[in-house]
Amino acid sequence: MSKRVAEALFPHITKTPADWEKAFPARPEGTACTRFAPSPTGFMHIGGLYTALINDLYTRSHEKGVFFLRIEDTDQKRIVEGGVSEIIDTLRSFDVLFDEGPVSESEDQGGYGPYRQSLRREIYQTYAKDLVARDLAYPCFCTEEELSALRERQEAENALQKGYWGKWAACRSLTEEEILQKLSEGRSWVVRLRSQGQEGRSRVFHDLIRGDISMQENLIDTVLIKSDGLPTYHFAHAVDDHLMHTSEVIRADEWIASIPVHVELFETLGFPVPGYAHLSPIMKLEEKADGGVSKRKLSKRKDPEARVHYYEEIGYPVAAVLDYLLTISSADYEPWREQNMDAPIFDFRLDLTKTGVAGALFDFSKLNSVAKNRVAHMSCEAVLEAVKDWAARYDGKLSAYIAADEERFLRSVHLWHDKRLDVAKWSDLMELYPYLYDADFDPAAEPIPEKFQAHMAHIPGILRDYLASFDWNDDGKDWFQKVRDIAPKYNYAVKTGPYKKHPELYSGSIADVSSFIRFAVTGRLNTPDLHGILHILGQEEMERRVERFLARL
Ligand code: GLU
Repeated sequence: MSKRVAEALFPHITKTPADWEKAFPARPEGTACTRFAPSPTGFMHIGGLYTALINDLYTRSHEKGVFFLRIEDTDQKRIVEGGVSEIIDTLRSFDVLFDEGPVSESEDQGGYGPYRQSLRREIYQTYAKDLVARDLAYPCFCTEEELSALRERQEAENALQKGYWGKWAACRSLTEEEILQKLSEGRSWVVRLRSQGQEGRSRVFHDLIRGDISMQENLIDTVLIKSDGLPTYHFAHAVDDHLMHTSEVIRADEWIASIPVHVELFETLGFPVPGYAHLSPIMKLEEKADGGVSKRKLSKRKDPEARVHYYEEIGYPVAAVLDYLLTISSADYEPWREQNMDAPIFDFRLDLTKTGVAGALFDFSKLNSVAKNRVAHMSCEAVLEAVKDWAARYDGKLSAYIAADEERFLRSVHLWHDKRLDVAKWSDLMELYPYLYDADFDPAAEPIPEKFQAHMAHIPGILRDYLASFDWNDDGKDWFQKVRDIAPKYNYAVKTGPYKKHPELYSGSIADVSSFIRFAVTGRLNTPDLHGILHILGQEEMERRVERFLARL
């Protein structure tokens, strides 16, 4: 009966749903097909990367899997220029690779495209036209003012369910003549679902992470096609995930409340309903004014760590960020990682049911400890490559240092990498080891340690003797023997045992003697192997630093 209305709304649509079904044939039996479906609205949120990672891992955990990227750009007001490249580049830089989807601002790869919703207008309109023709959807002419008046009346009457539905849905009962009349007047319209849901009737929906959830079934006549001819998220989700054969929709849990409307849409369209899994967001603990703590979602506005680029900028290795996201979200990841420290992350078999419901908690100290472990398990050569790449983009000074002598840089990496777990991210290098990498760092500008005060009478003599006995060709052992030989002259104990028993008999111990040299050269009391450091700095630089230190005393 509504064929005339359907025709009047969509005269240019000549295809039928059957045509699209043919154009998007089923994928091979048993294919686990997931997607990441962001809107190109600017910088990616860490939660977006997390969602993409879980989708990617899910398909890789199946024998046959397809993971695709779909750009949800139907909300034209929110779109940012370059937003698509931003998403593609970010996913690539984190090794989250999709099998199908946009590969640049204008090109797609894969047989189920276009993978940008704004280019699929004809498809959505075909299905909307069909629904109107079958009286399962209808045009609505309500203006903004009418809709806000409706909301006010619902407030006043305390309607249990707000929104456009049942007796409140004025356009639901327009006759064909009335509709055609309004169309001929050129009135603006949207297409709404004619919901079959009933107030007070609930239904059980299944979530692959949360299990069964009982909810009021949908009764809202939700908008399917907006006045600009583009679909709403809800309608595009149903049409696209059907035609692209998504087997599991794994998305953020902000969409849980929409399951009833989505299921009704799939059923009304005659599509099989996909599996749904709703991922909890990454949360952050926040101290409240009253001294308590509360949990909130990471916010792009308030938290720098919410932006994916933050991790790149300060130089966390890609694999560390991925390790971290899975460590805080997936209960069986950390034990797996401990057993398989060197395995690629994508060897991990993801079990959605082990993905936390409570919301992963962002924790910098956990991030740093995961990252330190990851760095420790990289080869020095891999560290060299990663730091070189990072420094080329974010740290000119370090980049110049590496470029001047790559072999020297590699030796310096061995120095701090082989025995220690100090580095979590590449920006730590300048902070932890300025005496190696920062040409502007002046150890002589560091405050002299308090504990040196008692040794002031001896330090100049010790350092002079040290310089006099220094031989570039000594290996670590010979070098240290010479340092030990200096100690007795100033009554410093060479062995710690006797010193600990009777400290009052000595000026100090060999540890003090080493610390004078160490501090003069590095401005630090605690460093990796000092002999190794000297051999990276060179004899001249070492001597210059010791002289400058002596000049201060
Ligand atoms: N465009 C939606 C979003 O960015 C996609 C949600 C989904 O995965 O279905 O939240």
